[in-house]
Amino acid sequence: KITVIGSVNLDMVTSTERVPNQGETLTGQSFEMIPGGKGANQAVAAARLGADVHFIGRVGDDPFGEILLKNLTENGIHVDGVEPVTGEHSGIATIIVSDRDNRIIYTPGANNLVTPEYVEHFLPIIDQSDYVVLQLEIPMETVEYVTGYCYENGIKVILNPAPIQPLSETVQKQATYITPNESEVVGVNASTEQLIVTLGKDGVKYYQDGEERIVPAYTVEAVDTTGAGDTFNGALAVGLAKGWSLEKAIKYGNAAAALSVQKFGAQDGIPTVAEVEQFLQA
Ligand code: ADP
Repeated sequence: KITVIGSVNLDMVTSTERVPNQGETLTGQSFEMIPGGKGANQAVAAARLGADVHFIGRVGDDPFGEILLKNLTENGIHVDGVEPVTGEHSGIATIIVSDRDNRIIYTPGANNLVTPEYVEHFLPIIDQSDYVVLQLEIPMETVEYVTGYCYENGIKVILNPAPIQPLSETVQKQATYITPNESEVVGVNASTEQLIVTLGKDGVKYYQDGEERIVPAYTVEAVDTTGAGDTFNGALAVGLAKGWSLEKAIKYGNAAAALSVQKFGAQDGIPTVAEVEQFLQA
């Protein structure tokens, strides 16, 4: 059993030939609403890979919240830990995509209300988990509360420290594994036995008996690496929850992430358990 506690967002993606100037209105090329948020992405990855996944998070009391909830449910995730916030909007990323660059405004909305008091209502879900997976798109005090609770109760925690933020010494000591990417690893000074660093196309670095080890990535044609880290973290949790060795779970994470970078979109690219098995046999 895996519980993901984190963010759920709707990406509002408008494509345009160029970004508007100040005061200018442009006609865009296309518009899409895409479910995302690091928490939701990691939960979707774990669920598609066959795990029994509970999600603890919040959406707004708007139509977007219904879309986000439906997306989680359709991916087979238990949403008993998701309650809409009255009078608050869902987490929204407004994204302008042009040939030259992307411009993004992220407004957390309901994600800011994933407070320790809120999570406390769902301790029975946490108590039944083999692994709890956390990221940093919800309040830090909640990340600290959950990590402390799990540490005291012998529940394992994977902390994906993204987006980058300073971590307290206590959180770094209490998390079972910390999974930064290359840019997030600065500022993480957890013990090497806890560290799992993703290195993009170079794979993953971890430590065993004080020695640095690399699990290489798979060589694939990458078209969109958005969500590669989220897919990796979800898959890593699945492998570890099955009791696999760290090396085997990382290899599985690399395989799932390698499949994800071959498709556009964060969640669209996340593979199923059958796809990963086929890829590993090929
Ligand atoms: P993030 O998406 O958080 O920045 P990384 O870029 O480190 O994280 O990617 C996470 C994992 O995704 C890597 O460890 C690797 O397994 C896989 N991955 C990322 N980019 C590629 C790529 N170009 N080819 C194959 N695998 C990749």
